[in-house]
Amino acid sequence: MALRAEYVTRPREEIAGVLREERRFLSAAEIYEKLRRIRARVALSTVYRTLERLREKGEVSERIDAGGEARYMLCEPAKHHHHAICRTCGKVEDVDCTAVDRFAQSLRRLHGFTIDDHAMEFMGRCRQCR
Ligand SMILES: [Zn+2]
Ligand SMILES: [Zn+2]
Ligand SMILES: [Zn+2]
Repeated sequence: MALRAEYVTRPREEIAGVLREERRFLSAAEIYEKLRRIRARVALSTVYRTLERLREKGEVSERIDAGGEARYMLCEPAKHHHHAICRTCGKVEDVDCTAVDRFAQSLRRLHGFTIDDHAMEFMGRCRQCR
């Protein structure tokens, strides 16, 4: 039984380990490549399945890139925040939402419109790449 538990949890640990190393959105194929480089024996289909499970559990954030490919990053999507993404190196900063609250207030005042949901991300250059 102990052996079986290890077999079940290990790919998840390996994949989470790869994601933990980088504050960037990675595709399943990129994660698979990194796993191969550290000689982790995880099948690509397992990478896809594990990412889907981590996403459902709210441990990773999913983002569809311009080419339509899904990319993943360790994150807490359930805790409301936004992402500032560097166009040069891909590094992601979590940013809070206080400016949006002010914007929502003025939208309500000027247009009588009440926002009940929003999603946005910011593109630009990080401190290192500027
Ligand atoms: Zn985040
Ligand atoms: Zn950068
Ligand atoms: Zn927000």
